[in-house]
Amino acid sequence: MTTKYVYYFGPDGTEGDAGMKNLLGGKGANLAEMARLRLPVPAGFTISTEFSNRYFAEGRKFPDSLKVEVAEAMKKVEQAMGMKYGDADNPLLVSCRSGARRSMPGMMETVLNVGLCSKTIAGLVRKTGNARFVWDAYRRLIMMYSDVVMEKAEDIEPAEGRGIRLQLDGIMNELKKSKGLKADTELSADDLASLCEAFKRRVKEVLGRDFPDDPEEQLWGAIGAVFKSWNGKRAVAYRQIEGIPHTWGTACNVQSMVFGNMGPTSATGVAFSRNPATGENKFYGEWLPNAQGEDVVAGIRTPNPLNEETKNEQNKHLPSLESEMPELYRQLYDIRTKLENHYRDMQDIEFTIQDQKLYMLQCRNGKRTGTAAVKMAMDMLHEGLIDEKTAVLRVEPQQLDELLHPIVDPAAEKNHKAIVAGLPAGPGGACGKIVFTAADAVAAAQRGEKVVLVREETNPEDVEGMRAAAGILTARGGMTSHAALVARGWGKCCIVGASGMEINLELKTITAGGKTLKEGDVITLNGSKGRVYAGALKMMDATENPYFKDFMKLVDKYRTLGVRTNADTPADARAAREFGAEGIGLFRTEHMFYGKGSDEALFLLRKMILSKSAEERRKALAELFPYVKRDIQGTLEAMEGLPVTIRLLDPPLHEFVPQQKAKQEELASALGISLEDVKRRAEDLHESNPMMGHRGVRLGITYPEVTEMQVRAIFEAAAELIKSGKHTQPEIMVPVACALGELEQTKKIVERLHAEVEAAQGVKIEYKYGTMIELPRACLLADELARSAEFFSFGTNDLTQMTFGFSRDDIGSFLPDYLKNGIINADPFQTIDTIGVGGLIKMAVEKGRSVRPELKIGICGEQGGDPASVEFCYFSSLNYVSCSPYRVPIARLAAAHAALKAG
Ligand code: PEP
Ligand code: MG
Repeated sequence: MTTKYVYYFGPDGTEGDAGMKNLLGGKGANLAEMARLRLPVPAGFTISTEFSNRYFAEGRKFPDSLKVEVAEAMKKVEQAMGMKYGDADNPLLVSCRSGARRSMPGMMETVLNVGLCSKTIAGLVRKTGNARFVWDAYRRLIMMYSDVVMEKAEDIEPAEGRGIRLQLDGIMNELKKSKGLKADTELSADDLASLCEAFKRRVKEVLGRDFPDDPEEQLWGAIGAVFKSWNGKRAVAYRQIEGIPHTWGTACNVQSMVFGNMGPTSATGVAFSRNPATGENKFYGEWLPNAQGEDVVAGIRTPNPLNEETKNEQNKHLPSLESEMPELYRQLYDIRTKLENHYRDMQDIEFTIQDQKLYMLQCRNGKRTGTAAVKMAMDMLHEGLIDEKTAVLRVEPQQLDELLHPIVDPAAEKNHKAIVAGLPAGPGGACGKIVFTAADAVAAAQRGEKVVLVREETNPEDVEGMRAAAGILTARGGMTSHAALVARGWGKCCIVGASGMEINLELKTITAGGKTLKEGDVITLNGSKGRVYAGALKMMDATENPYFKDFMKLVDKYRTLGVRTNADTPADARAAREFGAEGIGLFRTEHMFYGKGSDEALFLLRKMILSKSAEERRKALAELFPYVKRDIQGTLEAMEGLPVTIRLLDPPLHEFVPQQKAKQEELASALGISLEDVKRRAEDLHESNPMMGHRGVRLGITYPEVTEMQVRAIFEAAAELIKSGKHTQPEIMVPVACALGELEQTKKIVERLHAEVEAAQGVKIEYKYGTMIELPRACLLADELARSAEFFSFGTNDLTQMTFGFSRDDIGSFLPDYLKNGIINADPFQTIDTIGVGGLIKMAVEKGRSVRPELKIGICGEQGGDPASVEFCYFSSLNYVSCSPYRVPIARLAAAHAALKAG
């Protein structure tokens, strides 16, 4: 039996439904579902994603069986619509649109008005009595088709600015100019007819082929171009960023055309069943009278507001659909309610009004900001639309990021005048240097610079630059434009439609609010309000969000995996507790020697490092001791009895050796030796491979007194807190261990000092002793290590480094090629390499618990805050993950998702 590739949808006999997204793509599946709900969907059919793969596998050809299926489906469509494709008297026109499983806004192609040709034009003019409309539709077809089907799909790469579409745009502008006209709508039927002839001549000249005049040829050309656009450059780039598999393929939806541009009683629009930026339960959207669908999203005109609630600074003077066509607005509002009740989620819909009749062209779950996602989840829960588990699953862990991100300080905004305002398309604040091209944004990001990508209008080709930029600012476009959708999906600060700004691409300047700024100048965006400022304004953390708190309570109800934080200061510890951290999973002792206020302690550490004899070292350690104790005590106290895993000194000592002459001289006099001696001792410490050198537990094996000092500091700090009535749970962790002997030797010191301090202070100190697992050998021998260690914490930064043999500090020179060539799928330092490093982790968990069933196991490498890695840890039976404070809520939500997925 041959595979079925074509699925009909329409008033009767719809074959697909919303559950068939993998096969029909999101758009096709939802069109079928809406048809089943008896909503006014123009009839059509979907060619499945399965065919997409076959199309590429078989050299971009259409098998005869598909032609037969399409012909049959077209017959049904013709019956439903009462028109005939290619008929001279009563012609049906169709659109061909892409639609993958997951929405890829603006990344693939669409061709409208397919089927218009010399044979059908006259019939359509007769039927509609509107020659202007027909010629306008034809010129749109020529523009789109020559661009998408005859140029892009044929892999023709025209010189910059010489693409066919731009050339045809140029011809149209010339005509308007010669006639003294401003808007396209002022062109007459005759103007448009002669324009179409000029277009066709140019197409032939540039592309060397006649514009196809046969409806069948047009149809198959358009279908082919839609499938080919799956492998277009920007679609491939978008999939890479979003992690969408290239094997999914797109579907192609062939649907009867309905026209929003048939005159003042026609219109087209895009709407969201709730506000996608704030989450408010208010119908939200934009529309344009007498326009075709693409006009709303392309940002050519500022769209009108759908209703009162959608009015903003840019569009408040334009009439709303609610006031202009109240009956149709009411019908649309009813459909909005029906769709929300049916899908139980916020819907993003496209509609067209053809001569006072409403049609639905698309619905899908709408993209939303993190703020909106949280509010909608909680609102829908309270409205009884969804249950608690669904509410938790409605927010992607990464989306919380933007709720935790900085915004422009309102006080700073008060003192500055915005140079221009636009639409608040993506949340939060961003501040950076102006760049004008996507390539410049990517290059700047690679240099570690923050930039704002400034563009005239939204262009899907900019996707990589948009990703790289801290913020995005465009002069044109509405809230539903491509830039807005993409930015919102990423939670990225974005302002669109800042029409008061003039961009000069030649001079690389923008002029707004009487100021001219050039490339490299700094601007600040308030993406939540749509305001743009010259210069760098102060940023601050987003204020308390009541929905967020309630939502996180719900998250914790369904979470079983613990979430701790990596913190080394009382301030970080407190911030992390605010975010819900249940303990510290990694306190890196050496951080007290970095940064502000560390001078004295660092000086004493250096003295200790450069000591020659054990005697000298002991003296230096005694001086250092109070600093270490104070530092540890501060954090133990801030955690108010929650467990704190304190790691013994880890980094190679040579990292702390002074390089500046002044510092070396200071040390020389403190140690009573010459500058030359200091230099020599420093040279002695030099290692050719410090990451694999004298670091971690090895330091304590050579210099037990270093371990002693730290362990004493931990126990005394704890004892003093206990004596003052406080509870505390220190956990002593040994870094970079690979052998049982290392742990045993260190443990002897720990036990001895524990007894000593308990006796001296007269209190009982509870503690745990454990190790990091960050070497492959430690995984292989985890059962041995578990005989000594009461807990394990996977240091997946080092474990990844040692498993791949990739230096964690030097991946920049080769990892991008590994990712580009698909050798590995993701940066293993950001997300756990589940098959390699993950295999070692699973083995270590199993071996460790075979010896000590109650062994507590966590992870404290950077991957501990990455949602996919959190899920991996859950399914690998870890007890907790530990991550930086700002990622704690993300990890909590990821942990709840994992538990809910497990069921
Ligand atoms: C690790 O290696 O994963 C770890 C947490 O330790 P550090 O990053 O300090 O080496
Ligand atoms: Mg490490």
